[in-house]
Amino acid sequence: MRAALLVSLLFLSQSCDKPTASRPFKAKVVVSTEDGYRWQELEFKYLQDPDRMRGDIGDIVGGVVFNIIFDTDIVKEDPESLYSKKGGDVKTDYLLEDGVILAQNMDTLAMFSLYKAFEICVDFWKDHFGLSLEDQKPSRLLYDPQYFFEVEGTRVSAVRKRNASYLLQTGDFMINKTSSTEHVPLKVNLAVLAHEYGHKIFNIQFARRDVTFYETKNKRAETQLLGINEGWADFASWLLTQRAHEFEASIPALGKERSLPVSWTNSQLIKEGGAICGGQYYCKGSLLASSLYELSQMGTWDAMTVGKHVFDALLTFRDDWEAHKNEETFDFYYFLIRIVNEFEEGERAGVCTVFKKWFDDPFTLESMKLTCPD
Ligand SMILES: [Zn+2]
Repeated sequence: MRAALLVSLLFLSQSCDKPTASRPFKAKVVVSTEDGYRWQELEFKYLQDPDRMRGDIGDIVGGVVFNIIFDTDIVKEDPESLYSKKGGDVKTDYLLEDGVILAQNMDTLAMFSLYKAFEICVDFWKDHFGLSLEDQKPSRLLYDPQYFFEVEGTRVSAVRKRNASYLLQTGDFMINKTSSTEHVPLKVNLAVLAHEYGHKIFNIQFARRDVTFYETKNKRAETQLLGINEGWADFASWLLTQRAHEFEASIPALGKERSLPVSWTNSQLIKEGGAICGGQYYCKGSLLASSLYELSQMGTWDAMTVGKHVFDALLTFRDDWEAHKNEETFDFYYFLIRIVNEFEEGERAGVCTVFKKWFDDPFTLESMKLTCPD
C-alpha cells in the first residue's frame, strides 16, 4: 500500500511539474543594454523547443567531450571525430508567469540568454548584409563542453574557462563553462558571442566553409591570417553592439588589448612587442579593428557602410590569400588594399590616411604605396 502511494505521488509530481509554454515564446533573459547587463522579457523568433533549446538557427547541445589530441587527417575526412562524445539534448527548468518563461536555475537562464544573443547575431547578418538563414546555416552551441587529453598515457578530462570559440572543422560554437572570475558570464555577453559569430561570417565569406582553405606551408602567413580573422571578428562584434567596452563587462583586463581603439600603432608593436600587448596575433588584429572603428567614427561614412566594404573585401582578399599564402611576406596590407578599393575613388585617400596612421611601419607603408601614395 505504501509502495503504491509513493509511486502515485511520484507520478503526480512528474505529470505536474512541467508547464507548457506557447508561441511566441517569451522569457526573462540577461541582455546587454546601454546601461550594462539587465534582466529583460524578450520574445524569441527562432526558438522552437524551449525544453530542449532547439530552433531554426541551431540547437544548444550538452555533454559534448572534445578530443584535444585529434588526428588532423582523420578530422578532415570526418569532422565529427573531433568529439569523443557527441553529446545530446539539454534540458531546461522553468516556470511560467503570465506565459513568460522564468528560468529556475543558472544554466537555464544562461541558455535562454545565449539563444537570444544568437538570434540577435543571425538577424544582424541577415538584415544588414543579406545573409539568409540558409546562407548562415544552423549552428550547434556546445554548452559547457569537456575536453579530453592524455598525460603520460593517462586520459585526463578538463574544462576550459574564460573563453569561447568557433570551431572551423565542424562549424560549432564552444560555449565554455563559466569561471568565477568572469563578471558577466562570457556565454551571455553579446560582444563575445558576436565576436565568435564574426569568425563564422569570415568562414562563410572568406573560406567558403572550406577548412583546408586556411592551410599554408608558411607559419608566419598563418599567424597573419589569424590576426586578420581576430581583427575582423572584433570589428564585427563592435559593429553589432556599437559598444566598445563590452568585453570588459566580463573580463576587465581584456580592455587594454581589445577595447577599441587600442593605444598603440604597428611600429610601436613591432618595437616593443609583449611590453605593449601580450595577446600575440590578437594585438595586430586589434590594430585592424581599431582602424576600421576609426573609419566608422569619423563622420564621413556610417558604420554599416564601412562594415559592408570590409565584408565585400573579404571576398576579393580570398584571391590574395590563394596567390600569396606560402610567401614569407604575406601580411595585412593585402586586406587593407582590398578594403581601400571597395571605397569610391574620391574617398580612398581618406581611408588610406587612417590605415597609414595605424599601420605606420615602413614595411606596410612601402607595400601599400601604389594604392596609398604619399
Ligand atoms: Zn576570436
